[in-house]
Amino acid sequence: MAAAPAPSAPLRRARQAWNLLHVDSGRALAQAEQAIAAARAAQDGPAEAWARLTRGFHRLYYATVPEAAAELERALRLFRRCGDRAGAVLAEATAARAMWRAGRVNDALARVLPLRDEGVRVLRHDQRGVLLNTIAGCYSAQGDSAQAFAYMYEALRDAGPSRGRGFDTVLHCNIAHELMQIGDCAQALRHVDAGLARCSALNNARLRSVLWINRIACLTELGRAEEGMVDVAAVLALPADASGRGPTAAGFETLALAALHAGRLALGAELVARAQAHGPAELPDDQLELGCAGALLALRRGDPAGAVTRLQALHALAARDDVEGLSLRLRVQYFELLSRALEAAGDTAGALAALRRWQGLREAQSRLASQARYAAANLQTELLSLQHRLDENVATRRRSERARAELAAINEQLSHKVAEVQALQAALRQQATQDPLTGLFNRRHLNDTLPTLFALAQREGQTMALAILDLDHFKQVNDRHGHAAGDRLLAAFGELLAGQTRRSDVACRYGGEEFCLLMPRTDAAGARRKVAALLRRWRSQRFAFDGTAVEGLSFSAGIADTALAPGSPDALLNAADTRLLAAKRAGRGRVEVAAGALSPS
Ligand code: GH3
Ligand code: MG
Ligand code: MG
Repeated sequence: MAAAPAPSAPLRRARQAWNLLHVDSGRALAQAEQAIAAARAAQDGPAEAWARLTRGFHRLYYATVPEAAAELERALRLFRRCGDRAGAVLAEATAARAMWRAGRVNDALARVLPLRDEGVRVLRHDQRGVLLNTIAGCYSAQGDSAQAFAYMYEALRDAGPSRGRGFDTVLHCNIAHELMQIGDCAQALRHVDAGLARCSALNNARLRSVLWINRIACLTELGRAEEGMVDVAAVLALPADASGRGPTAAGFETLALAALHAGRLALGAELVARAQAHGPAELPDDQLELGCAGALLALRRGDPAGAVTRLQALHALAARDDVEGLSLRLRVQYFELLSRALEAAGDTAGALAALRRWQGLREAQSRLASQARYAAANLQTELLSLQHRLDENVATRRRSERARAELAAINEQLSHKVAEVQALQAALRQQATQDPLTGLFNRRHLNDTLPTLFALAQREGQTMALAILDLDHFKQVNDRHGHAAGDRLLAAFGELLAGQTRRSDVACRYGGEEFCLLMPRTDAAGARRKVAALLRRWRSQRFAFDGTAVEGLSFSAGIADTALAPGSPDALLNAADTRLLAAKRAGRGRVEVAAGALSPS
């Protein structure tokens, strides 16, 4: 497999920014902004996508939800354009989280849930954790604690302390929040404290403040509000901007309730005022909690009627089971407070009715608690089997990759073999048509070619000449200098013929020391000039065999052409052969042409 190309500098910076999100949110934002500038300058889509995703994620906590959502949608478009599926899943999940934070819980779940299977496939560690945690958040807001827990625990497994890049702290915080929903505040406190322990290694004031707020809420529910007062002070000491706990979700209503439960009336009053100063609460949870804080303040000030009035104003909201994102825990708290306020105001029947509601909601909490355990086990099994399928796919892919590699090797061997066979066949073909000693064509080739060239000459109305050349007194060379010397001479003569004839000529070794030259588009007179020139050259050649010079060699040749012997190839051969014989008889070293073809040479 080809190695992935090294990431660009802006992409490295953008990914660093992402990895810093929970570890050091301020630096994460600074890096993301540098990466955006660098990515835009370099038109680096993948880098810009990661940097915008990081900034969008940061804005979810430190800016308004619409600002975050706009940035996340931009990141999503960029990821889609560059085909980064992991980034796209993550951006879309985070965009869904923005919807959830805006209170559009059902839409958010509908958007994030279809990403799950692909996300589990393409995401790892903290990124997979972010996806699963978003699904969990939606379920939590829908009041489905069972599913919420299942996904959160699963996310915690993926984003453990070593690989979570601080995200495990978020998960401890969320698990604590969910445990509070089902009324298990003791267990919730353990997760809060685990989160706070992890948080000491992070530079994330916002996360720390949320953990503190959850700690305060837990302690309040456990009747230990007094213990939470140090945390209240700690939260209030943090700057309310991006360098501290951030401008949003200050949690003043939670702090106010804690202070009032701890009997700190003045602090409680101040916190209620600060919560109210934020303007009317947008999310139903905040409305309910703020209402409770105001009512408790009134109750503590000895004004049960005022408390009842405040609480009754929220009754319609608290009594409904279908409010998107409304927390069961706060509804429980509300009805408990309402019952106390009504009792203090002298409305015993109303107090009893409120108590019944409270009881019903407590039962719902314990039902959720027991369901949660099963759901967590179920999801774990489901995701585990997803992981198994994934592993199997990987194994299958590896197997088929191996098979493909083997096939490629076999193919290569095969093509080597084919090449060998082809080379061998070519060699065989040559052996079949070539005379190995002289390199000229052999007699078989002459027999194959002559009829074709003869017919072609006749069809084209062209003359073809044929010469037979026979070395003179060749036997003597063998006798005097040995057979090897004779072979060298034959080879030299072959070279001469091959070198001095046209490409269209066919030079063959006819047998022994006899050669045949086919010359298409040549008549006997032309052939005679040609062969006579060959004879001159052959005469001028000099050989030395074992120190003895051999020179003045000759051959005799007989020539005919298709104009003189038009009958058949054999007739042409015979006519040339007859002339060869005549040349020998006439004393050798000469070229004889069939009668009638004589012309000045
Ligand atoms: P002439 O001038 O009448 O043609 O005499 P010659 O000696 O050339 O003719 P002859 O037919 O008497 O002898 C041909 C000789 O060529 C006989 C044979 O040993 C020799 N010869 C044939 N083929 C080869 C070969 O491949 N290598 C060698 N060294 N000699 C060969
Ligand atoms: Mg001969
Ligand atoms: Mg001879």
